[in-house]
Amino acid sequence: MGRVTFPERSVEIDLDALRHNVGHLRDIAHPARVMAVVKADAYGHGAVPVARAALEAGAAWLGVAHISEGVELRRAGIEAPILSWLHTPHSDFVAGVENGLDLGISGWELDHVVAAARELERPAIVHLKIDTGLGRNGCPAEKWDELLSRAVGYQDEGVIRVVGVFSHLAVADEPTRPETDRQLELFREAVAAAENAGIDVEIRHLANTPATFSRPDCHFDLVRVGLGIYGLSPFADQGSADLGLKPVMTFSTVISTCKEVPKGQGVSYGHAYRTQEATTLGLIPVGYGDGVPRIATGAPVLVGERIYPVVGRIAMDQLVIDLGTPGLVDSSESPLGKRAVLFGGGRAPAVEDWAAAAQTINYEIVTRISGRVERVHLHVDGADDAGNDTAGIGSPSGASAPDDAGAGDDELA
Ligand SMILES: *Cc1c(COP(=O)(O)O)cnc(C)c1O
Repeated sequence: MGRVTFPERSVEIDLDALRHNVGHLRDIAHPARVMAVVKADAYGHGAVPVARAALEAGAAWLGVAHISEGVELRRAGIEAPILSWLHTPHSDFVAGVENGLDLGISGWELDHVVAAARELERPAIVHLKIDTGLGRNGCPAEKWDELLSRAVGYQDEGVIRVVGVFSHLAVADEPTRPETDRQLELFREAVAAAENAGIDVEIRHLANTPATFSRPDCHFDLVRVGLGIYGLSPFADQGSADLGLKPVMTFSTVISTCKEVPKGQGVSYGHAYRTQEATTLGLIPVGYGDGVPRIATGAPVLVGERIYPVVGRIAMDQLVIDLGTPGLVDSSESPLGKRAVLFGGGRAPAVEDWAAAAQTINYEIVTRISGRVERVHLHVDGADDAGNDTAGIGSPSGASAPDDAGAGDDELA
């Protein structure tokens, strides 16, 4: 016992799968370039190691929501172009300009960015964002001309340089809906207006992951892809493999208790589940404190070769699976200490299975895994196939990955 250091609960991040996905998206987007969106700690995958791997695989840009997220990438020594687009009047625009971040501007931010540029005596690089119909960020169409003329004035003064125009799509995950056509038309008009106002629009960008797959007419110069680089599908009727993607994250833990119970045993708070027959229960030591959605009762867990359902309420630290057979505890089949995989590649359940059980989307399942769960980055060095290569963010120093971390491995030393 104890020869292999195996994290008791971890998300493994397969950076080779991520590189594959970035390469695939590059091929699809070509000749447009790829911005790897690494906001929210790279959708829970660890921003710094993901950003590095994405750049190695040919992403030309990185995208983040907050200036602070971009600054964190710069502090890690990443020099690639980074765009940050979600600000408040309390955002640190000086840090943004000082760190050479490109800044997305929808309106009021322009004066803050200009003030920062003046303070630093360094021009700010700006992408103007038009709201073509999403109804969130972005300049309303009727205020676009005014924003353009203010931007041109500042550009003439030398305090900003406008390099891009962008917008964000509302329904691209449902390719048959007509709203995307209208957004595309408005986007083209906004770009034309910017050019007429005297702006040299080097970089036009509109597409997210779904539009990168389904709408080549939205590719323009750059596609901003998040979900796809993590190997997940944005479409309800297509999975990762259908799109040529490999899921990057595997969430696993170890069965912590195994117990024989009679028929009629109530399980977990509220006794929302009672056993139908005498059976064996397995206790899985992750819960909503680890980011497992509390409502996901019924979601699948892989142990050995088989999938078992979560039964009863999910608690803060633990959940229960019904192993379906009595008499396992004292047998050679005892699952105590075996690996339990909530989702991942290979034979493991898909992230989408957990999303369905939790009435949410795959984006949320991976992003919400909490900091209590160790991130183990595999294949940090692209050429190095060994497991002992954990990195950076979220990995306690000294942790080492299992030699073979493939989903479904059930024996631990
Ligand atoms: C999050 C985000 C993206 C990435 O969306 P995906 O669907 O994950 O590809 C692109 N652009 C903007 C503005 C975003 O906020």
